[in-house]
Amino acid sequence: MRKNRVQSLAQVPGLMAAQYIEAMPTRLRTWLSTHLPCQCQACHVWGAGGPLCPACQSAFAPRPLPRCPGCGLRQAQAQAHTNTHTRLCGACLRQPPPWQHCHVAVDYGYPWAGLISRWKLGQQPALAAHLLRYLLLPQAPIMAAVAAADALIPMPLATQRLRERGYNQSAQITQLLAPDKHRPQWLLRQQHTHSQRGLNRAQRLHNLAQAFHSPAQAQASTSKLLLVDDVMTTGASLHAACQALRAAGFAHIEVLCLARTPAPTTYAD
Ligand SMILES: [Zn+2]
Ligand SMILES: [Zn+2]
Repeated sequence: MRKNRVQSLAQVPGLMAAQYIEAMPTRLRTWLSTHLPCQCQACHVWGAGGPLCPACQSAFAPRPLPRCPGCGLRQAQAQAHTNTHTRLCGACLRQPPPWQHCHVAVDYGYPWAGLISRWKLGQQPALAAHLLRYLLLPQAPIMAAVAAADALIPMPLATQRLRERGYNQSAQITQLLAPDKHRPQWLLRQQHTHSQRGLNRAQRLHNLAQAFHSPAQAQASTSKLLLVDDVMTTGASLHAACQALRAAGFAHIEVLCLARTPAPTTYAD
């Protein structure tokens, strides 16, 4: 009987393994991934108790670094103010971004790039809770931005990609961070856009110009938004999404990215 049921489910077009994983309650998924024997993704020790063992968690823990509040790129100490407010970089002064502040947890690099890639592309939605615990919860300025926001908006996926993946990784983060402020319905993806890989900034902006739509005008006058994305590379998607939210009347928008692709010139630690 059970075998027949499994066979019949397997024959349903479009029903993918990810949906079974996603259908598992978040608590159970997190419990399984912390209690079953697993290997640290950085040092490969067994029994890590999660995707990173405690030693690697502390070795790679995000540190507060001066970043441009516009583009989120790291600044050299000399470029940043000595007080808590950092200065916009030259590029952001010339062309200010459409958001008030960009919060970044870490640079997109080892070991975070691998974990984020497995989370998104490797069909491992349970990694969301671990990345949240490693990258966001310990950072007071980021959690203050979450607390100050009236609504958290996840970057929407194109419908086809959502079907393929079975879950929106940014929506997992907003739901885990603040379930009472999670508002995925306030920003929608209007049309399927082609992959952004291999395009330059101008091509990406053109591709994305009409991709987002916000049907949330009624809430616009009162809400302070935090737009959440997993990785910021050129910022083109966030830029287009922010323009759609601005068009709906939202005046205060901050951005939160788990990881930011560093500038080609990186600063020594
Ligand atoms: Zn380790
Ligand atoms: Zn900047």
